[in-house]
Amino acid sequence: MSFPFQHKHNCYCAFCRSPRRIYRKKNISFANILASALASVVFMFAIWQQYDPRVFIVFVVCAAFAEVFVKIRWRLSVVCRQCGFDPVLYLKHPEVAAEKVKAQLDLRKVDTKYMLAKPLNLPAISAKKAEALSTKGKGKLLSRTL
Ligand SMILES: [Zn+2]
Repeated sequence: MSFPFQHKHNCYCAFCRSPRRIYRKKNISFANILASALASVVFMFAIWQQYDPRVFIVFVVCAAFAEVFVKIRWRLSVVCRQCGFDPVLYLKHPEVAAEKVKAQLDLRKVDTKYMLAKPLNLPAISAKKAEALSTKGKGKLLSRTL
């Protein structure tokens, strides 16, 4: 169940199906703009002790910082920490996203931090289907079981 003002959203990774929590907010909201305006007014009175038109420049800088922070926070929360799958990168460059997942899975095999961790629920591809995929030359396999 999700509430409209809830910042984080429970979901599952599209690749390894592990439960995750991601930030829903991609851009700043009206509350962030009000907070930026308040911060710029406080900054104005702290520096100049009176009204100064440069407060608008400070407001724009504060709003830009808020936007960049919210954007980076959302972008970092989208990437799966278990398998390294990045859905945003997958939409633009699927091969690069597959390489990143493969690098993360290789790192998981070697790193002792993951020795006692719960194994990932990776999609299983039978040997027959893998053969069909490799003869068509359409896809690359990241992992294969069976
Ligand atoms: Zn994942």
